[in-house]
Amino acid sequence: MKKYIILAFLIFITGIVISGCGKKQQPMDLYDMVLDRGKIVVGVKDDAKPFGFLDKDNQYVGFDIDLAKQIAKNIFGDENAIEFVPVNASNRIMLLNSGQADMIIATMTISSQRAAVVDFSIPYYYTGQTLLLNQKSKITSLSDPNLKNIGVIFGSTAEKMVRIAIPQCMITGYKTYIDAVTALKTGEIDAVATDEAILFGIIMDDKSLKIIKAPKYSKEPYGVAFRKGEETKRLRAIVDKTITDMNDNGDLNNLKKKWLK
Ligand code: GLU
Repeated sequence: MKKYIILAFLIFITGIVISGCGKKQQPMDLYDMVLDRGKIVVGVKDDAKPFGFLDKDNQYVGFDIDLAKQIAKNIFGDENAIEFVPVNASNRIMLLNSGQADMIIATMTISSQRAAVVDFSIPYYYTGQTLLLNQKSKITSLSDPNLKNIGVIFGSTAEKMVRIAIPQCMITGYKTYIDAVTALKTGEIDAVATDEAILFGIIMDDKSLKIIKAPKYSKEPYGVAFRKGEETKRLRAIVDKTITDMNDNGDLNNLKKKWLK
């Protein structure tokens, strides 16, 4: 009798192991997970005025923040059902893919290189790269001989685009925009390269700086980034619909007027 019980037990265990091996573990749908949790976790910038930055009360504000709030409103009927996580250009994909954020809304350009590791929404804003100069700078074109050393932010598209558009220049990388702007002001570099929309935010607060009077040398469509795969597809569809609706009803244009006057 004892033998039969042991045999039955072994067959039962083997069955569990075999069925477990055969089935691929289904990752939980991100939209269901977000609904269960009652809030969405969004990676945003805290130093990129007017898209994501902290106001005097230490609250996240900006274009990207308003877009995140509209998404939360569409999901929960509550624009405050969000937890913001600060990200920068060099850590945002890692934070997303390690599950520390459900999505990233952080001045992030949709590029084919990035689309190999994350999924993007449709674009919600279009800008392009240009150069920030000291007000007294005489540089007027990308081929100006005085343009020798350009600062870029690590992990940003400028790292690659400056090499293509201004190949004669030396490039210095900085972790934050504050570091890059300080280097420009102290004469360590001749210009800072990044999106015109971000440079608008910098010159809003600092009249000792200006944007070069030359055409933008890249196209930077901003998108919301998600972990790659089926698991994030439903949430992505909701974000795409939010962006489409905001485009159609003029809300995206109103955000432009509000933050980029
Ligand atoms: N849009 C550019 C990028 O995604 C620059 C903005 C940023 O520093 O995040 O790299």
